[in-house]
Amino acid sequence: MTLDLPKTGRFALRTATLPAAVTPGSALPAREGLSSADLIVADGRIEAILPAGTAPADIESVDLQRRMVWPCFADMHTHIDKGHIWDRQPNPTGDFDGALAARQGRPGANWTARDVETRMDFSLRCAYAHGTSLLRTHLDSLAPQHRISFEVFADMRERWKDRIALQAAALFPIDAIDDDAYFSDLVEVVVANGGLLGGVTFPLPDLDRRLDILFRTAADNGLDIDLHVDETQDANVLTLLAIAEAKLRNGFEGAVTVGHCCSLARQDDDKAKATIDKVREAGLSVVSLPMCNMYLQDRHPGRTPRSRGVTLLHELRAQACRWPFHRTIPAILSTPMAISTWWKCSARRCVLRIWTTRSMMRPRWSPAFRPIFCKFPKPGGLPRGWAPISSSSTLEAGANFCPVRRRTAS
Ligand SMILES: [Zn+2]
Repeated sequence: MTLDLPKTGRFALRTATLPAAVTPGSALPAREGLSSADLIVADGRIEAILPAGTAPADIESVDLQRRMVWPCFADMHTHIDKGHIWDRQPNPTGDFDGALAARQGRPGANWTARDVETRMDFSLRCAYAHGTSLLRTHLDSLAPQHRISFEVFADMRERWKDRIALQAAALFPIDAIDDDAYFSDLVEVVVANGGLLGGVTFPLPDLDRRLDILFRTAADNGLDIDLHVDETQDANVLTLLAIAEAKLRNGFEGAVTVGHCCSLARQDDDKAKATIDKVREAGLSVVSLPMCNMYLQDRHPGRTPRSRGVTLLHELRAQACRWPFHRTIPAILSTPMAISTWWKCSARRCVLRIWTTRSMMRPRWSPAFRPIFCKFPKPGGLPRGWAPISSSSTLEAGANFCPVRRRTAS
């Protein structure tokens, strides 16, 4: 079923369904997290959001028949350099180690600039077609890949700048930071490309020393940090706490994001609470990747998985409410690879459910849930810490209106 929008500069979209999670401050009544509304669109912006059935009768309009209207998605954590490789590098065991092995494959194989470009291009076209307008990718950055991938990424960012704002974080094992020549070259590449420092943390006797190097280097170069943290079911692994302490110890003022944090869910309540308190004190932003972790974690042949690796979302959310800059930010991602939920924000459960259902079970939107995405003002690219997202991921008067249903990118 197609939907033709009026050609006039000002029109109404009647009987839209809006997720209440993305309409902060709205007086619209909500039922099960959803509101019914009429939207007035004028000159490419949302002029007003009114209770359903109250739009003026004398302007052109189209009845959305309860279709959903959403902001564009912010994909906080993905890997556009290494997705869509199943045909060449499958992961038949379906577990975390299998994923790592698939990534590594034959050293050097499938990681030429052309390979990377092909994967990035397909990932970005998928993300765009599904309504993503902001995307942060991690890039495998052990030498010499850092120079290959960041160069391709810079080209992609330029090509896509009017459709998706892109960020990249360098991904490398934290112990590689001891290789001075490599790390200084990596920092040079990251700075030159406006990226972030990233990395994978894991228990090491002198992890604190390495984290200090990471934080000091980031501070010296004005970089933010986005780390892969504790993607394991091993309760003895809790580098999350070390990261929070390192940020505080170094007085680091940039934005720090921590992804996965699976082992947090394996701690006893007291230890989990103490860690979350420190995460809050340090102001870390936690990204959970439920689809990725629920697929990979605790998977063993012939055994039903018990623990699926989703971090303590509700507990983090409860703490986040006391964070000074807390506000609701819908940052749900849907790509063929994963769904991310950014929990310096609070995505409503219904939102996640819809996307999970759609991504995993339905090849297409059912008519009732077919979305119209709205693109929001983008204040000159993405400065540090994704600050623009917090002011651009809600449905409210003044937002740009950009229907992107059926859009494709060639
Ligand atoms: Zn990742």
